[in-house]
Amino acid sequence: MPKLAINGGTKIRTKLFPRYNNINENEIDEVVKVMKKGILSKYLGAWHEDFYGGEKVQEFEKAWSEYFNIKHSISVNSNTSGLITALGACGIGLGDEVIVSPYSMSISASAPLFWNATPVFCDLEANTYSFCIKSLKKAITKNTKAIVVVHIFGCPSNMKEILEVAKEHNLYVIEDCAQAPGAKYDEKYVGTLGDIGVFSLNYHKHIHTGEGGVCVTNSDDLANKMQLIRNHAESVVENKGETQLSNMLGFNFRLTEIQAAIGIEQLKKLQSELEVRQKYAKMYDEALGKYPFIKTTKLENRTHSYYVQAFEFLEDIAKVSRDKFIMAVKAELEPVQDRENEGVPIGQGYVKPIYLLPMFQNKIAYNKQNFAFKDEISYEKGICPNVEKFHYKTLWTHDFTRSPLSKEDVKDVINAYVKVCENLDELK
Ligand SMILES: *Cc1c(COP(=O)(O)O)cnc(C)c1O
Repeated sequence: MPKLAINGGTKIRTKLFPRYNNINENEIDEVVKVMKKGILSKYLGAWHEDFYGGEKVQEFEKAWSEYFNIKHSISVNSNTSGLITALGACGIGLGDEVIVSPYSMSISASAPLFWNATPVFCDLEANTYSFCIKSLKKAITKNTKAIVVVHIFGCPSNMKEILEVAKEHNLYVIEDCAQAPGAKYDEKYVGTLGDIGVFSLNYHKHIHTGEGGVCVTNSDDLANKMQLIRNHAESVVENKGETQLSNMLGFNFRLTEIQAAIGIEQLKKLQSELEVRQKYAKMYDEALGKYPFIKTTKLENRTHSYYVQAFEFLEDIAKVSRDKFIMAVKAELEPVQDRENEGVPIGQGYVKPIYLLPMFQNKIAYNKQNFAFKDEISYEKGICPNVEKFHYKTLWTHDFTRSPLSKEDVKDVINAYVKVCENLDELK
């Protein structure tokens, strides 16, 4: 008689999991106040007292700076626009190279192209999914200007080593913290260790304003440039008295008063959500870390924020493929309420290595082929072997660590993993 549900056995769980939703009366009340006042945004794209946005935007930025213990917070309408803003402020342009991660949301790697600079991919290492330092050093040339570090899954990257390399070569360090708000490296918040940190406030992240983002920095100069790029730099510089015109070509990347009012309330909820995720993640690490064919994330000097929790499945030891293993675990569980069509949210790998996207494979971003790309910078399959191994062979992620899951919900997921681990023979 088979025990595993995938072979016809009884499932561990037959009811849906509750969905993540941290919006309640707190946000609703504050949005209603803004609506009643009728000022939904107060920005003006000119050198004027409203150049920095309205009351709520400024209050939100102040709260963000206090929470993260940073001098400047510049709210923007997404992490995407934040990365473009941050790289623009660093003064990059045609011919410059920016080192990027292949294992992230695509914008983490494509952002340099918006300023005509060339993305150069660096492989990641196992255990923490940080830049592999050997690969990082190899990627640096005389044209390298910046590094975009991604604290992927919410796991802080090896900032000490990365900052040492950056200092030696005089490179800007931008931290993509979309998945890591409140994560810490050596007791310091990620995003505050490099030159600029960029956070996301989109609907899928720990805290959100529907769409939104924040750039943080301790540099007055970078803050000023980011504020200009966010809000029509070209029409502001003259009256503001700015004489450095490089990359002073701006956008409308502004957050509304409604979003800022939501953001103020959301920020108050970040710490408790992190504590839930850290507590649940530890339960999984303890239950699964004892199997020789499962590798958990290394957490030395780090506080992980668990946007998702990543593991690796070692097929050589298990004698079963990751994909078979995950299919069997999923068969024991149920999807999430209101997201039934996504199936059980356990991911085999994360996203396809970014350099394999058609834009990189064909070196076409703007109309002219090769424009902003370079012949000597390769995007061939195989350039980041570790990431390809994670994606196609070993890595899996889940987000069964978040609120409002109960301890019983988490125990169901753990029981599903354990049941499959104990009955691997059934999959051979
Ligand atoms: C979500 C995400 C982004 C993009 O954020 P948006 O706010 O949607 O633009 C960028 N990088 C990473 C790592 C992300 O997870």
